[in-house]
Amino acid sequence: MENTMTLTLKVWRQNGPAETGRFETYEVNEISPDMSFLEMFDVLNENLINDGEEPVEIASDCREGICGTCGCMINGQAHGPEKATATCQLHMRKFSDGDTIIVEPWQAASFPVIKDLVVDRSPLDRIIEAGGYITVPTGSAPDANLIPVPKDAADTAFDAAACIGCGACVAACPNSAAQLFTSAKVQHLNLLPQGQPERWSRTEDMVETMEEYFGSCTNHGECHEACPKEIPLDFIAYTNRDYIKSKRKNRKLLGQSS
Ligand code: SF4
Repeated sequence: MENTMTLTLKVWRQNGPAETGRFETYEVNEISPDMSFLEMFDVLNENLINDGEEPVEIASDCREGICGTCGCMINGQAHGPEKATATCQLHMRKFSDGDTIIVEPWQAASFPVIKDLVVDRSPLDRIIEAGGYITVPTGSAPDANLIPVPKDAADTAFDAAACIGCGACVAACPNSAAQLFTSAKVQHLNLLPQGQPERWSRTEDMVETMEEYFGSCTNHGECHEACPKEIPLDFIAYTNRDYIKSKRKNRKLLGQSS
């Protein structure tokens, strides 16, 4: 018979953004090492519902590390103890029978708690709205190779585009900075030929929107350590370079139009 685990969970419960939160302690039994962390929460929630209690709110969607919806602090680490792994892809074999696991929501002033482990990450959407797109004429689909993309640019842009927008970088940062997320979203477009026409306005707008909501980067590097997609810190350097250039280029463009 498969070895199963009994675990003690200390889970943050909070009824709403304005309510005071608290830790509640639960025991879960017969947890298979092959279960994902979210499947373990399914067991807890089934138990709570069967006991007439309210289940724990925890966000998830794809459960395969793509959508960026899930994410919580597990024993003080964003997404838990396994490197380059989102909460939904963390397996219970990373824990041992008898362990106590502390589960909290992302901790950042810009991510207020909606309920229990679910936080409002919409400030990340404000950054995307400020410039995380390219403007193209609509009409019939152009030939795929109409604008050649150099291989190096394609590969590096793809590394940046791997960001799933989970917010772990913000939660792990002592300053609650969003530089890693923002720079990934800026660079996956800035590196491609298709992203050039709006490069300077995009950079200035996205960086300055980020600054409205989040703290400043002081090069701790915790964001990269917590990132389930291992987004490189290099993108922050590329974005700082582009931001300095954008201040000069955008002023020049403004001068041309007046
Ligand atoms: S940079 Fe990494 S940690 Fe930050 S939002 Fe993107 S995937 Fe998540």
